[in-house]
Amino acid sequence: MKQDGALNRIDAAAMLAQVKAWSAINTGTANLAGLAAQAEALAEAFSALPGSVELVDPAPVTAIAADGSAFDKPHGRHLVVRVRPEANRRILLTGHMDTVFPVDHPFQRQTWLDGDTLNGPGVADMKGGIAVMLHALMAFEKTAAATALGYDVLINSDEETGSLASAGLIADLAAGKIAALTYEPAALPDGTLAHERGGTGNYSIVFTGRSAHAGRNPHEGRNAIVAAADLIMRLKALESPEITINPARLEGGAANNVVPDHAVLRFNIRPRTVDAGAAFDHALSHLLIDIQAAHDVATQRHGGVTRPPKKVDARAQALFDLVHECGAELGQDIRWQSTGGVCDGNNIAACGVPVVDTMGVCGGAIHSPDEYLIVSSLATRAALSARVIERLAQGALN
Ligand SMILES: [Zn+2]
Repeated sequence: MKQDGALNRIDAAAMLAQVKAWSAINTGTANLAGLAAQAEALAEAFSALPGSVELVDPAPVTAIAADGSAFDKPHGRHLVVRVRPEANRRILLTGHMDTVFPVDHPFQRQTWLDGDTLNGPGVADMKGGIAVMLHALMAFEKTAAATALGYDVLINSDEETGSLASAGLIADLAAGKIAALTYEPAALPDGTLAHERGGTGNYSIVFTGRSAHAGRNPHEGRNAIVAAADLIMRLKALESPEITINPARLEGGAANNVVPDHAVLRFNIRPRTVDAGAAFDHALSHLLIDIQAAHDVATQRHGGVTRPPKKVDARAQALFDLVHECGAELGQDIRWQSTGGVCDGNNIAACGVPVVDTMGVCGGAIHSPDEYLIVSSLATRAALSARVIERLAQGALN
């Protein structure tokens, strides 16, 4: 039996117009002016919902410069919408307004690849997903079930760089929710959802040695670059099926005739389990003690796991099953698979709230100038979400 009611309430043309307008605004995570313009446009669009719309200041974020010093990294404001906060049953819907394309990146325009495929920055990841969320909620608000469900919407400005300025807000908004939906693009162009996810962590290690002349008194120097290189090799030796480690950037050094007294090593880890992340963090402390002793240098560590691995427990699986059921009603065969990628769904799952985090559009080649949106998926995915939200309002997951 096909349930066409939800799809009939979706205005596909309005969705496409919004995606095109939003994609035309550059929202690289560091482009504060672009993010401010996007936030205004979203605030206006989301005022179609019967709730309060608010822009929330980003949390302070400290980053480490190439010289090892700490500095405050600015971020854009986040959009928060609250509808029926007094309701007993409430859900969280999240998305992000930033993209990976800085304001000076060559990829800024939209191109039609064929009648149903639009190439453009953020069309899939995830300005299209934001339109899916908004229009699903607008369609849901026209159903009889709407009064039974409250919800909060969060559109953050910093997902692409790890949500460090919004992690606290995500956790606050997840608290007390029966379920969460996040609008990352589907894992595959056919609409397949992302199921379990690994976690991620980022570290910066600052090495301080002692400079000396490379010819006259090299023995008096303490080479920070050599110490960092030693750590890189020892880090790689910690890899296992449970964790991968990617030394990504080594900065520092000096002229060829100087023993370098300074280096900063940046690396990323991808733990598959919470325990693997914790075990790595512990092992790193010991490695740094060994490196300090072996090279007579000082080290300072910054960072850690920012997004814990996302497991799918029984309650989360029930939400996947609900999405599958709603898809079947609409003639959509919704499947899922695990992925190594991370997103705000990791943060939400860490709060114990069931989440499906790829409710956005079908498309592909994200984070590249080939990023594309399958335009017809705007309406079909909005219909899917509208039906899932309606079922949650009617008591699903109880
Ligand atoms: Zn995304």
